[in-house]
Amino acid sequence: MTSRYFLGLLGHPLGHSYSPMIHHTLLELTGLKGEYKLFDYTLKQLEEGAIASMLMSGVHGFNVTIPYKVLLHEKLQALTPAAKRVGAVNTVFRVDVDNEITLIGHNTDSTGFYKSLASQTQDVLAEGHAMVLGGGGSARAVLAAMIFESKTPAQHITLVMRDPEKAATLKMAFAEWVKETQISTRLDVISTEALDAEDLSSVNILVNCTPVGMHPNTNATPLSLRQIEALNPHAHVVDLIYNPSETVLMKLAHAHGCPIVKNGLGMLIYQAIEAFCTWTKLPAEEDWYNLIKVRLHEII
Ligand code: NAP
Repeated sequence: MTSRYFLGLLGHPLGHSYSPMIHHTLLELTGLKGEYKLFDYTLKQLEEGAIASMLMSGVHGFNVTIPYKVLLHEKLQALTPAAKRVGAVNTVFRVDVDNEITLIGHNTDSTGFYKSLASQTQDVLAEGHAMVLGGGGSARAVLAAMIFESKTPAQHITLVMRDPEKAATLKMAFAEWVKETQISTRLDVISTEALDAEDLSSVNILVNCTPVGMHPNTNATPLSLRQIEALNPHAHVVDLIYNPSETVLMKLAHAHGCPIVKNGLGMLIYQAIEAFCTWTKLPAEEDWYNLIKVRLHEII
């Protein structure tokens, strides 16, 4: 058993992060000794061996955030199936054998997203038409959740992206997954401009995976009022953004009568719990989620 965990978050610029508070709460709840630090390193510092220095100083594992999630996916010697699918690494753990360290890249965003959904939303996802806005790292994690985490793979997913080249790449990744699982999910990719009322009226679950509406641009929304008015009023709406806790998209969806509207705080907490369990090899306890949420609500 490790006597003291040395954990952290690698990114740049890190600014304010909720991760230290979440992981210090988890250390406290499990009675483990340790600390979770911010590793705010520039690309130049990474190229000059910042990760090797972190390991020398005894780091057991770390989370990865913007802008290094894809870079570490490309650079690490070993990846878990979850990291391979998502094409990004948000959690790194080390394996030490015969004085040799192997860093393994993992991704906990998919499971984090799926676990954060209410059970009714999980059911809707398995049966209905899902629409995903954006095609970056979090969108890939959400797509992977819809295929690999869902009780049954989503029936129909529409991906709304502004860059046709990136859309084609994502479609190819999706085709690989389909081969792997032999699923029959239908994937449509449309451009942001082509999104029309007909597409929106059949949506059962809408997930915003763009940063549009995130602090400090809190007046922005990825869908206009006119588009929200065309959305199926029974649709469940999830915005991965958690700062602010209610985005303009969420406010419009509430006003439109959507029955379940949630932000990304649940995903943030569940992906962190999953990462913590990866590092410590402890099973997650049921009450951790609520205890962390209470602590976060004290500061948000
Ligand atoms: P990312 O990899 O940079 O991807 C962002 C996506 O949004 C890209 O497809 C980008 O398109 C698109 N986009 C950006 N600005 C846009 C605009 N004005 N209009 C239309 N599309 C736009 O970022 P990410 O890691 O996926 O993160 C996206 C959001 O999810 C962020 O707000 C992040 O905080 C949140 N997130 C939350 C959690 C959680 O735990 N709750 C986890 C991960 C991410 P281009 O590629 O064309 O630029």
